[in-house]
Amino acid sequence: RKISEKHDKVFVTGCQDPALETNQPRANAAFVVLARNKELEGVLQSLKSMERHFNRWFHYPYVFLNDGDFNSTFKDEVRKHVSSNVEFGKIDPSMWGFPDWVDHNVAKEGIRKQGDAAIMYGGMESYHHMCRFYSGFFYKHELLQKYDWYWRVEPEIKYFCDITYDPFVHMERNNKTYGFTIAVKELKETVPNIFRYASAYKRVKNITSTGLWDMFLEPKPEKPADELPKDDPKYKKPLPEDILRTEPGAGTIPDVDPESMEGETYNMCHFWSNFEIARLDWFRSKEYEDFFQMMDRSGGFWMERWGDAPIHSLAAGVLLDTHQVHYFRDIGYRHTTIAHCPANAKARQQPRPPYLEMTTTDEKKRIEEDAYWEEWDEEKENGVGCRCR
Ligand code: GDP
Ligand code: MN
Repeated sequence: RKISEKHDKVFVTGCQDPALETNQPRANAAFVVLARNKELEGVLQSLKSMERHFNRWFHYPYVFLNDGDFNSTFKDEVRKHVSSNVEFGKIDPSMWGFPDWVDHNVAKEGIRKQGDAAIMYGGMESYHHMCRFYSGFFYKHELLQKYDWYWRVEPEIKYFCDITYDPFVHMERNNKTYGFTIAVKELKETVPNIFRYASAYKRVKNITSTGLWDMFLEPKPEKPADELPKDDPKYKKPLPEDILRTEPGAGTIPDVDPESMEGETYNMCHFWSNFEIARLDWFRSKEYEDFFQMMDRSGGFWMERWGDAPIHSLAAGVLLDTHQVHYFRDIGYRHTTIAHCPANAKARQQPRPPYLEMTTTDEKKRIEEDAYWEEWDEEKENGVGCRCR
């Protein structure tokens, strides 16, 4: 149940000469950063890392989005820290907050209850809106319309390794749709019913399992499902009563027939979406939109605290083939407490020194650049850095 290295190879091993790499045409892509003014410091930290390890060569543009207005300090500081074009956009209320078809009081009460139950971010209304925005709306924002690809950036992220090839171009060339670098398990209490809806979508649409869907399944119980007692919780779970079905006709979700679930259980695994490189046309496809609509209409973005990470992951599980997903096992990345360190990955276990010498076309420029970036260089402290120079 792995995305195997046999079928999904590291695109490029070792250091490329950025001068040669950037001679090639760039992809039609942008970084997407959702943020608030108060997160400026964390944003700048992320931008330094992004620029230092990748964008000082590739100069991909940034799109900043916010449900409020970015102030001039935020915009000025951001512009000072990047080597490419930046656009700042406001998110329309139609993409953020409660839609008309949901009973706001019921939803707020649902959120309040999750706060009382100490579910992580469960009681924070804005967090629910953020997750729903990243699940079903960001790719519809007008500033993203002109792009085919995006790379998600959050405040307080860090790249450990120089990325000297263009991930977009290589994904395109290899027919990849979705790329991740970390997969983790979700907190069960944030998504108690998410899998039943995703699985209902798959069944209603008659989608046959791909290898990817299986990645999200707990191994089958020893006994075949039909031998389980009918009251076994694995086999038969009533639908929660408090899932919203307020709008007349909103019930696009048929009740999940437990008999048809074939005893499948979600293993809580998901791609950690704060790092994500993906094709926007996948999110804009009818299939993804249908999937999102069905999930959305269940009310799970409020009555539970469904994150965009399990939403994107289960959508990929339903809609994508294993070969369309790329594991960036060579990208060193950290966000808050979780990191992926490629020093531990096969791709980095090649017999070669951690700091490769490479020749650039302009030696003097290289030395100047290195001196500049030394200022931001923290890699040595944890010993996982892998720089190309
Ligand atoms: P965590 O990584 O799951 O702990 O969640 P974060 O607090 O980092 O939020 C995820 C992303 O959404 C980050 O890029 C935040 O800056 C952004 N974000 C979260 N809540 C809001 C909000 O209410 N407004 C805006 N504009 N951005 C938000
Ligand atoms: Mn975050």
